[in-house]
Amino acid sequence: MKYKRILLKLSGEALMGEKKYGIDSNRLEQYAQEIKKIKDLGVEIAIVIGGGNIFRGVQAERTGIDRVQGDYMGMLATLINAMALQSSLEQNGMYTRLMSGIKVESVCEPFIRRRAIRHLEKGRIVIFGAGIGNPYFTTDSTAALRAIEIEADVVLKGTRVDGVYTADPEKDKSATKYGTLSFQEAYEKNLNIMDMTAFTLCQENNLPIIVFDMNVPGNLENLVKGEEIGTLISSN
Ligand code: UDP
Repeated sequence: MKYKRILLKLSGEALMGEKKYGIDSNRLEQYAQEIKKIKDLGVEIAIVIGGGNIFRGVQAERTGIDRVQGDYMGMLATLINAMALQSSLEQNGMYTRLMSGIKVESVCEPFIRRRAIRHLEKGRIVIFGAGIGNPYFTTDSTAALRAIEIEADVVLKGTRVDGVYTADPEKDKSATKYGTLSFQEAYEKNLNIMDMTAFTLCQENNLPIIVFDMNVPGNLENLVKGEEIGTLISSN
């Protein structure tokens, strides 16, 4: 196994599947099965899930809701997704713990680093909900920060595209995919891999990121086994 402990970042939008809003149960089930494959290989798995399918802080400003309030609403949205994913993982026979960046005591544990690591060592899948717990951050930053804290080998950013391209492949047919990139190249080329906070955290702490298509069955499994899938962004 190339990666023993991973942090999987899933966007909230990915959970929508074919829907325009909310959670698609088929997509949820599909993700649970993909995650099960790597659990069965013995990989230690932490997951950060976004909330964009339900609510984003920036969207609040347009509706007259205060930005900070909106960000907390966004964090609660991620928690809803995290709860749905937790349920789906458990229905597929996996043991899980949900840890939250803000206190929601009846629903989940607060994030405590040593505890998170212990859960992983015991074979539980740890889901980090409610982001970092502070406004003005994103779940990409949460993924980077938590991955560093739990000493994950890599951040696997599951998206709807199969990697990082020279231009938006949906708009520009001549766009080509990068197999590997250094942090420096990605920065100089202004490639949108994660927001700057998240990106810098990964770069400064030597934490590789792989952007890959989570909707292709087997991709996640083949990645942790060491196959070259998607785009690897690292220090080299
Ligand atoms: N958010 C926040 N702090 C965090 C994580 C998330 O304030 O540490 C809020 C922010 O408003 C963000 C929303 O939660 O827009 C949903 O997260 P994100 O947009 O990262 O979700 P994704 O785009 O991955 O679905």
